[in-house]
Amino acid sequence: MLTDCWTAFLNILYPPKCPYCKILVQEHGAWCHSCLSVILAVRELNIMEHRLKSLDSCRVVCEYTGGLKRIIHDMKFRKQKKYGIHLSWLLGNSKLPHYFSTIDYVIPVPLHAERLQERGYNQTEVIFKKWSRKEKLFWAPDLLVRNKHTIPQWELTLSKRKENIKGAFLLTRPEVVKDKNILLVDDIITTGITLDECAKMLKKSGAASVHGLAVASGAR
Ligand SMILES: [Zn+2]
Repeated sequence: MLTDCWTAFLNILYPPKCPYCKILVQEHGAWCHSCLSVILAVRELNIMEHRLKSLDSCRVVCEYTGGLKRIIHDMKFRKQKKYGIHLSWLLGNSKLPHYFSTIDYVIPVPLHAERLQERGYNQTEVIFKKWSRKEKLFWAPDLLVRNKHTIPQWELTLSKRKENIKGAFLLTRPEVVKDKNILLVDDIITTGITLDECAKMLKKSGAASVHGLAVASGAR
């Protein structure tokens, strides 16, 4: 009751708005119908076509376009951590949960320590942590670390990307993932090479299956 009153009070002070067009919406984190109709497109990436050999499947929730493109960009490069709630909302409202009933651990693609320090947070953790707990999935961000400071993948040609990311990740406790089903999560998928490199490490340590999930992608 008290929480409801407090929420109502906060909604008067800070009415919930669509992060892109700023129109009023029904709850904090939500997008308006018009923006949502442009971006929401839950789909499975064709892992064979992208030559991703270690991932068992890969799903994305939205098109990397319009308002979403700007929101993700601002969260990554302009320290707009506040957009995390809007990206998390997209996951919670895309009818995904029933796909993940067999998952043992959810692991976010890690940032290198230097980039983490510079940004102050890992945007993927901000987006997926609450969602993962809400879906009663086991959040395990410490199982995978990035031990190589790589050039951002989007700055490179396709042929250089594999080379750049090779050997960039390490498992902290390889024995934990043996025979487990893993869900790897990331904010954006461009070619899937980064996720596939993480999946390779997990499979090497005996993971039974590794699935990918990202908020957005322009790939098919
Ligand atoms: Zn909108």
